Amino acid sequence: MNPESILSGGCLCGAVRYKVQGPAVQTTLCHCEDCRRASGAPVVAWTFFRSGALSWEKGSAKLVVFAERERSFCGDCGTPLMFYDPGIPEWFEINTNTLDDPEVHAPSDECWTEDRLPWGLSAGGIPSFHREAPLPDVL
Ligand SMILES: [Zn+2]
Ligand SMILES: [Zn+2]
Repeated sequence: MNPESILSGGCLCGAVRYKVQGPAVQTTLCHCEDCRRASGAPVVAWTFFRSGALSWEKGSAKLVVFAERERSFCGDCGTPLMFYDPGIPEWFEINTNTLDDPEVHAPSDECWTEDRLPWGLSAGGIPSFHREAPLPDVL
């Protein structure tokens, strides 16, 4: 395992820390209402990794299943950490902003722009999709 491809991250309070085996397979900004409500933010940056790439290094996230999709949070401070859709088992998504190096995981596209708020935030200059972005070629 190449240590340089192992990324780390965690929640606000430090109770939950994780490592994830890179490289990331996709990055996106999601405007969907589910992500907005679950995060309390107008748009959420996600970084996709192959399933099985995640390990909890300290503590473990609280898993919530809603609408048949899994979201993980820190049970102490509430930071949203991870998203997984069992209907798309090839990958899961880490909340980019919880990575220790979010600056190097710039979004490559925006998705679910049909849900974008009227005062919506947009990265601009990257592909934009009304609903889901196309599946990554690497999977
Ligand atoms: Zn926490
Ligand atoms: Zn979303």
